[in-house]
Amino acid sequence: MGRTVIVIGGGAAGLMAAISASRSGAEVTLLEKNERLGKKLSQTGNGRGNYTNILLLGKEYRCNDPAFPSDIVRFFPPEKAISFFRELGVIPKFRGTYVYPASEQASCLTEALEEELRRLGVRIISKANVLSASPRSDNNGSRQGFLIHTNKGDFCGDAVILSTGGMAHPETGSDGGGYRLAACFKHTIVQPVPALTSLQCGGRYYKEMAGARAEASICLEVDGSMAASDRGELQFTDYGISGIPAFQVSRFASRGLQIGKDVKVHISFLPDWENCRGRLRDELKKRKSLLKDRPAKNFLMGFVNSHIAFALMQLAGIRMDKASGKLNDAELSKLAGLLTDLTDNVISVNPFSKSQCTAGGVSTREIIPGRMESKLKKNLFFAGEIVDVDGICGGYNLHFAWASGMIAGKAAACPSFSAKVTAQVP
Ligand SMILES: Cc1cc2nc3c(=O)[nH]c(=O)nc-3n(C[C@H](O)[C@H](O)[C@H](O)COP(=O)(O)OP(=O)(O)OC[C@H]3O[C@@H](n4cnc5c(N)ncnc54)[C@H](O)[C@@H]3O)c2cc1C
Repeated sequence: MGRTVIVIGGGAAGLMAAISASRSGAEVTLLEKNERLGKKLSQTGNGRGNYTNILLLGKEYRCNDPAFPSDIVRFFPPEKAISFFRELGVIPKFRGTYVYPASEQASCLTEALEEELRRLGVRIISKANVLSASPRSDNNGSRQGFLIHTNKGDFCGDAVILSTGGMAHPETGSDGGGYRLAACFKHTIVQPVPALTSLQCGGRYYKEMAGARAEASICLEVDGSMAASDRGELQFTDYGISGIPAFQVSRFASRGLQIGKDVKVHISFLPDWENCRGRLRDELKKRKSLLKDRPAKNFLMGFVNSHIAFALMQLAGIRMDKASGKLNDAELSKLAGLLTDLTDNVISVNPFSKSQCTAGGVSTREIIPGRMESKLKKNLFFAGEIVDVDGICGGYNLHFAWASGMIAGKAAACPSFSAKVTAQVP
């Protein structure tokens, strides 16, 4: 008789794990508490589904044990994800290194996976909220397994895959309940905090800058050390900063604040001038004579976004009606400093409800990477965001869901399986 595998959670990782286990010969039951599968998956990439990235070096992931995610994605590199979906009818579309379905509909990823589950005969139980999981053995103790208790009754399996996600956008179903299930088996949970989200900052000038966008670089400083940096289009809101660069560094801000550290952000509106402040001061001096009759409020016009220019002039304490020709050296120096390093305190990050990912989760030190199996409880497996791995923007989180789901499914079906590295990190 084949092994019975119960997959808890029908998001990206659970759908992949159920397919993988079923293709490996297991009899699979998928339990999902929502009415429909893949609710979050269908919303990814602004509805367009950025499902992997062909530039994957392994260092795009954060984890207390950095080798862990890089091993997982080497077991299942992007080419495999692309060919897996191609076989289900999803043609890739490349935007730079980012990969989307050609239809640009994230929902087609869910539908393709669901079709495959049905073709394989996986039993799908929706509106099944898993309330607890416990070990069980047959009367004579010959067969060990799990008893899964749900609002729709109890289910038994030889192996269980926990793929209940993290806590980001909890209205999609991933509300952190899976951590409690993992904790039933004594797993350590690294404190979950929001990741891929906006930064709430202390400065009072955000009202003036709200709505402005600028190509900029940001550096995040945690207790005096540079923790992360990024460059791209920043978006200003009335409470702080958003946009991809803010998202990329946000998990370090979240973690720093959670453990009571001092978090600061440094913004450069002129990233190419950062290392040549002298040249920038000369440029501003040239502007001063060129625009000498214009009021100071227009001094930076055409150089940086006008809302940002206005806020920086105010921060430099410059009177707006003063003629640009009257700006003194100290004022020009101050402006050069603010243009290349506007420093502010990060007070908070946006909550889970406005975050795309969770940093933290089941400690990877308690998981065997080649099998995604618990080191504490045999036949208990993990896949996806429930694990303490978070990726940067660009398709990396879905890729981790596919890779970990593929491994967990195979290993749950085959006790002798151990994933082999199929790609070398360059
Ligand atoms: C708005 C948004 C956009 C995103 N865009 C991208 C993108 O373009 N590219 C990218 O790589 N990543 C993106 N992400 C991140 C990515 O969606 C997640 O990392 C990924 O979906 C995680 O998959 P998962 O299967 O681990 O968890 P989830 O997709 O969260 O699935 C977990 C499932 O488990 C179910 N569940 C939870 N508890 C129980 C229970 N007790 N009983 C039964 N079922 C349960 C939930 O209902 C849910 O369906 C985005 C995230 C968000 C929020």
